[in-house]
Amino acid sequence: MIIKAKSDPLHILGVTVLPGESKEVSFDLAKLHTTSTVDVPIIIERAKQPGPTILFTAGIHGDEVNGVEIVRQLVSHGINRPKCGTVICIPIINIFGFINLSREFPDGRDLNRMFPGTENGSLASRVAYKLVTEIIPHVDLIIDYHTGSAGRFNAPQLRLIKENKQLNDLAKVFGAPFVLYSKNINKSFRNTCQKLGKPLLLFEGGKSFHLDESVTNAGIKGAKRILKHFGMLRSQFNVAKPRKESIYITESNWKRAKYSGMFKASVKVGSKVNKKDVLGTITDPYGKFNHYVKANNTGYIINVNEAPIVYQGDALFHISTKLKR
Ligand SMILES: [Zn+2]
Repeated sequence: MIIKAKSDPLHILGVTVLPGESKEVSFDLAKLHTTSTVDVPIIIERAKQPGPTILFTAGIHGDEVNGVEIVRQLVSHGINRPKCGTVICIPIINIFGFINLSREFPDGRDLNRMFPGTENGSLASRVAYKLVTEIIPHVDLIIDYHTGSAGRFNAPQLRLIKENKQLNDLAKVFGAPFVLYSKNINKSFRNTCQKLGKPLLLFEGGKSFHLDESVTNAGIKGAKRILKHFGMLRSQFNVAKPRKESIYITESNWKRAKYSGMFKASVKVGSKVNKKDVLGTITDPYGKFNHYVKANNTGYIINVNEAPIVYQGDALFHISTKLKR
């Protein structure tokens, strides 16, 4: 894959960043309802040597703290200071949701359904627009970190469309335990970047309002492997090749709750199960009812719902049904 090496001054959000410079630029948009300003730092690190520009983002959903933690660690360990090229980090895009401990914007909008946004639209739409018009034109590759929503815990995985060779090559470099082929959702950040010809790797791992070390490490290792691939990772950072090749999932299904009740999963996320294996139990609170949730097919469990209480029809397990041969 050919990515143009840039060494010229970077003019971004009204600030100039020269090769070899580090700058923190503010993405400030609106104030809080208390008139307090909200700081949305964009951390830019440029090497003297020319090279690609990679953008790491998290917190499009304000409740996906594990993604924020991954980008935070990239910054705090100095992994974002490249040997060549430029690394831009935005640890929290939806700062309003993050402050409110909420997935959405204060008006209930999901930022990841607002792209490419509009200049004078809703607040979420404006944030999307500013990101797309002021940041994305400067970058060659985006890695966007997410987690499962609510109690649904995702095994570390990349989401991409099957047909794109460039993304498949990058996913191989990243080396997440799983790659789940999924279509781009209309008005998502991923879809807009695709339309703009900017490759985006979407990482999913863990669940909302939760930090998991193995998820964090998978996200960081992937970032390091990508940086290394482009000659951007400084020599003090080491990263091994993945111990196992990623498992590529072409089709998958959600196993849903047949009954409402108290739910306990008995399989680990990421594990392989056989058809009819017991995956967990649904019980009533009174010790009278006990239903075994069984696998409909052999496959990998890529998401486990960790909610203790479920309703009939709730998604319990995300299971692969077809792997890439
Ligand atoms: Zn998300």
